[in-house]
Amino acid sequence: MAGHGSSNGKVVPAAYPPPVDSQKEFVKRGLDAEDELIEVGVVIVGGGTAGLACANRLLALLADDHETMERLGEVPVAVIEKAKTCGGHNLSGAVMRPGPLQELFPEMTREQWREEGFAFGEVTKESVYVLPNGKTKLRIPPPPPQHNHGNEVISVSSLARFQQRQAEEAGAYILTETAATQLIVEDGRVVGVRSGDKGRGKEGQPLGNFEPGTDIKAHATVLAEGCWGHITGAAIKEFDLAKDREPQVWELGVKEVWKVTKPLDRVIHTLAGWPLKISAKYGQIGGSWMYPMKDHKTGEDLVSIGFIVDLDYADATTSAHDLLQQIKTHPLFKDVLEGGERIAWGAKALPAGGYWAMPKLSMPGAVLVGDSAGIMNLASLKGVHYAIKSGVLAAESIYAALKRGETSFEDYEQVVEDSIIGKDLWEQRNTRQPFQKGLLRGGPLVNLMIATKGRFPGGRWALHRNDAKPMFVGKTRESYPKPDGKYTFDKLSSVFITGNATRDDAPNHIRVQKRVPRELAETWRWMCPAGVYEIPEDAPEHGEVDVIVNYTNCVQCGAITAKGGRLTVPEGGDGPLYQIT
Ligand SMILES: Cc1cc2nc3c(=O)[nH]c(=O)nc-3n(C[C@H](O)[C@H](O)[C@H](O)COP(=O)(O)OP(=O)(O)OC[C@H]3O[C@@H](n4cnc5c(N)ncnc54)[C@H](O)[C@@H]3O)c2cc1C
Ligand code: SF4
Repeated sequence: MAGHGSSNGKVVPAAYPPPVDSQKEFVKRGLDAEDELIEVGVVIVGGGTAGLACANRLLALLADDHETMERLGEVPVAVIEKAKTCGGHNLSGAVMRPGPLQELFPEMTREQWREEGFAFGEVTKESVYVLPNGKTKLRIPPPPPQHNHGNEVISVSSLARFQQRQAEEAGAYILTETAATQLIVEDGRVVGVRSGDKGRGKEGQPLGNFEPGTDIKAHATVLAEGCWGHITGAAIKEFDLAKDREPQVWELGVKEVWKVTKPLDRVIHTLAGWPLKISAKYGQIGGSWMYPMKDHKTGEDLVSIGFIVDLDYADATTSAHDLLQQIKTHPLFKDVLEGGERIAWGAKALPAGGYWAMPKLSMPGAVLVGDSAGIMNLASLKGVHYAIKSGVLAAESIYAALKRGETSFEDYEQVVEDSIIGKDLWEQRNTRQPFQKGLLRGGPLVNLMIATKGRFPGGRWALHRNDAKPMFVGKTRESYPKPDGKYTFDKLSSVFITGNATRDDAPNHIRVQKRVPRELAETWRWMCPAGVYEIPEDAPEHGEVDVIVNYTNCVQCGAITAKGGRLTVPEGGDGPLYQIT
C-alpha cells in the first residue's frame, strides 16, 4: 500500500480516520420507559464556565417566577459534569474581560472575586515580544485585540468551582463524575441525554461495581462541553449544523502555574518566532504567555505560563509541552521563574476557526454554548467572557420559550449574533485564515485583517482542516531541552501532578487506528502532552508501525481529534483534577 494516504510522499492524517461513527454510536433514538428515566427541566451537559453561567442565570430568572419553576418539575436545572468536581477538567490562560461575569453576579465586586479565590488581580501593564532566538527579545506594540489593560487574571478551574457553589445554593442538581455519552433524539427533536455506564472493564465487560447509565429527559438541552464536544460532534452531524460553514480548526495549549519569589508586574505575550520555526514548510504558528497571579488569601505570588501551538503544523515532532519547556529557558521567562516552584500543569485544546467555523447554534430542543459552539476569539485569545455571555443568553432564550410553553430556541442564534460575541467575532472573521499560508506569507495579511476589522481583503476566507495537512518527521524535536525535573519537566511527571485518576482497567476512550505510517504515529507521540502514544522500540523507521495507546494517562485535552483520532468521553470521574489552571 505504498503511497496510501500520502501527498507528495507525506502522510495526511485524514487518510487514517478514527474507527467511530458518532451519529450511530452517540445518538440514541427514543427515550427509555417513563419509570426508567430521570426527568428534569433543563439539562446542561458540561459544568465549565459556559454551562454553569447558563445554570446560574436560569436559576436567577426562575427564582422570581415560581409558576415556570414549578412547571419544570422537581429538578428544574441539572448540570452533568464528567470531572470529579466542576473545574476539575477546566484550563485556560487566563486573562478575562470582566463585563459578562460582572453582569452575571452584579452584587459582587472584583475584590470579592479575589477573596473567593478565582481572581488574581487587574492587569495594569502589558508587554508583547517577538523572540528572535533563545537569548534576545524584541518588544512590539500590542496589536489592538491584545490590549488587556483593566482585564482580570483568573483561574477558570477555580471560577467553575465558585459557579458550582452558586448554582447549588440556587437549587441546581449537579451530577459530577458523570459523563453524558449519548444525545437522545425523538421525532427529530433533542429530548435529553444519556449518562454513561460506570464500572466496565477493558473489553467493555461489566465489572462487580457496574452501574448502567440513565436517560435524562429534559424540556431543553444545553451542550456546553467545551472544545471538541463528544455529544456536540454527534449533534452537529445529526442536525447538519455545520452546513455551509468552514471546518473547525484547533490549537493546543500547555500551561504551568509557578509560585515565584518576586512578583511579576505585567502580562506578557510572545508571538510567533523562537522557539517555533518560521518557514512555511513547518507550518508552526503559536505563542506564549506569562500572567501575574497574586493569591489574595495567602499573599503568595504566582505566575501562569503557557505555550499555544496551532494544530495546523506539518512537522510531526512539534510538541506543545516541550516547546513550553524550551521557552522557559529564555531569559524573559527564566528571570521570573528561576528559584520558584512549579505547582500545577495541564493541557487543553481550543477552537480557533472563529466566525465562519461556528456551527448553527440551535437545533430542535437544544442549543450550543461556549467552546462547544466554537465561540472563541483567537486574535485576542479570549473565550471565557464569551462562554459566560453565551451561557447567559442561552438561559434567557430558554427561559422565555419555556415560559411561553414552547420548546423552540431558534432565536438564540440571532441574540448571540447581535451581542458582543457576534460583533467581536465578525471583526476577526478572516484573521485566522491567512496563518494557514504560513507565518511569512500570512502574517502581513493577518495584520491587515486586524487593522481593517476583517474588511480587507474582504469576503469569506476559507479554512482547511488540520488533519488535511501532510505530515513529515522534521527537526523541531532536536532543540527541546532535556528535562531536569526541577525547572524543565517530562510529560509523565507533569501528568502526575494533575491528580489524574483513570482506572488502569477502564475501557479505552481514545479512538485511533492502531497501525499507521511512522509519520502519523510520531505526530501523535509528540503532540500528546500526556505521553499517551508510544512507538515500540523495534518498530521500523519507515512504513507502518503499531501504536501503543496508554489511554489511562490521557488528560482529555482533545488535541487528538484535530490530527486523525477521536477523544470520546471516558467514565465519569476519570482524568485530571485541576485546581488552579
Ligand atoms: C490554553 C488556553 C488558554 C486560554 N487563554 C484564555 C485567556 O487568557 N482568556 C480567555 O478569555 N480565554 C482563554 N482561553 C479560552 C477559554 O478558556 C475558553 O473559551 C473557555 O474556558 C470555554 O469555556 P466552556 O465552558 O465553553 O468550556 P470548558 O471550560 O472546556 O468546559 C466544558 C466542560 O464540559 C465538561 N464536559 C465535556 N463533555 C462532557 C460530557 N459529554 N459529559 C459531561 N461533562 C462534559 C468538561 O469536563 C468541562 O468541564 C484559553 C483556552 C486555552 C485552552
Ligand atoms: S490522548 Fe488525551 S491527552 Fe493525549 S492528545 Fe489525545 S486527548 Fe489529549
